[in-house]
Amino acid sequence: MAVSDHVNLEQFMAGVEKRNPGQTEFIQAVREVAQDIFDFIEDKEEYHEAQILRRIAEPDRVVSFRVCWEDDNHNIRVQRGWRVQNNNAIGPYKGGIRFHPSVTESVLKFLAFEQTFKNSLTGLPMGGGKGGSNFNPKGKSDAEVMRFCQSFMTELYRHIGPETDVPAGDIGVGGREIGYMFGQYKRITNRWEGVLTGKGIEYGGSQMRPEATGYGAVYFLQNMLKHKGDSIEGKTAVISGSGNVATHAAEKIVQLGGKVLTLSDSGGFIHDPDGIDQDKIDWIKHLKNVKRGRISEYADHFTNASFHEDKRPWDVPCDVALPCATQNELNEDEAKELVSNGVIAVSEGANMPTTLEGVKVFHDAKIMYAPGKAANAGGVAVSGLEMSQNSERISWNHERLGDMLTELMEGIHGKCVEFGDNGDGYVDYVKGANIAGFKKVADAMLAFGVV
Ligand code: GLU
Repeated sequence: MAVSDHVNLEQFMAGVEKRNPGQTEFIQAVREVAQDIFDFIEDKEEYHEAQILRRIAEPDRVVSFRVCWEDDNHNIRVQRGWRVQNNNAIGPYKGGIRFHPSVTESVLKFLAFEQTFKNSLTGLPMGGGKGGSNFNPKGKSDAEVMRFCQSFMTELYRHIGPETDVPAGDIGVGGREIGYMFGQYKRITNRWEGVLTGKGIEYGGSQMRPEATGYGAVYFLQNMLKHKGDSIEGKTAVISGSGNVATHAAEKIVQLGGKVLTLSDSGGFIHDPDGIDQDKIDWIKHLKNVKRGRISEYADHFTNASFHEDKRPWDVPCDVALPCATQNELNEDEAKELVSNGVIAVSEGANMPTTLEGVKVFHDAKIMYAPGKAANAGGVAVSGLEMSQNSERISWNHERLGDMLTELMEGIHGKCVEFGDNGDGYVDYVKGANIAGFKKVADAMLAFGVV
């Protein structure tokens, strides 16, 4: 078939929309990748012939299951659980589990699709997957969370394994939930194996995993600035979120001499003009991980700070912005506000936090913009190292893992520059990440023939 006979981007997207009705997040994620890949494969007949992009945009399988559990008042509750196994061309499926009321099949399909490219970019042998449930851990007792996690794993265990699919944490799933799920897996299978990452240090966890995603997003930012002869020292940063990713991103910004002005949760954001230093970050970690409180309490405790209810932090003037909360949390107007306030770089700790229109604003303004699939890949990369440690039954220390993370992020930045430099000095990091991530998976798929 001649190249000119191939479907064009809009025809391809019409097919994706028809096959995935109403799955807006998934369609958005596919479009963001497809627009770059179509240019890249224009003259590469083998990718067209083998329908590679069409195949990557169709998950290998989507498993959906019922999760029953009993709350503290003895009511029987029913939730839906999923595991989306998107692609295992270059390694076992790998990707987190999200517990949040906004979780749908569309959200998990977008996350598993993104994860495929992200994991490929790390250079480690990991395919892409994602799972989760519409269970809301907020306000639940430890015992309720434990019963839910055990019930979730009682079904999930049959679909995963260290050589098959290795889940980890994501929004609503941290050390506590991973512990309950790992304990249940071990109990059902009678096997101690590296089936989950993000485990506690005592039972095979990596000493660097909690910090990895947030630190990695800042290392990526540092690499972008360095590429332009600049650094984080003295820069003001606006960060959204206050979970694992956001607090560790804040910590690394502070360590590198920057000043963090904001953090947020679903109730609003706090703005601290004095800067959120390490002591304050530790206070927030305790608030969120131990007391399981709300970010608004920060403004009661640190009286120079203000709380902005139901607002996002993007109108606070800053040099760099790190969206570290969730998908589509930064829209076109907010991107324009950041640009008009002089932002020079954006590094995404969350997955797809900027809308397609917002990304266009950053590109048009020639802002350094790193998409989540590149900038937040440090988390899953250190998960990949945790898998290696579990297989070898060894443990690496914090310092060694820190060096490996720094190197991995430098490598990912380098790949993005290689495939994303437009030749005019401006690096399109979205294009670079999409093409570099795609190429490795696509070439492996070509080697397998039609499967
Ligand atoms: N949920 C994280 C991500 O979005 C980490 C996944 C993992 O460690 O497997 O990449």
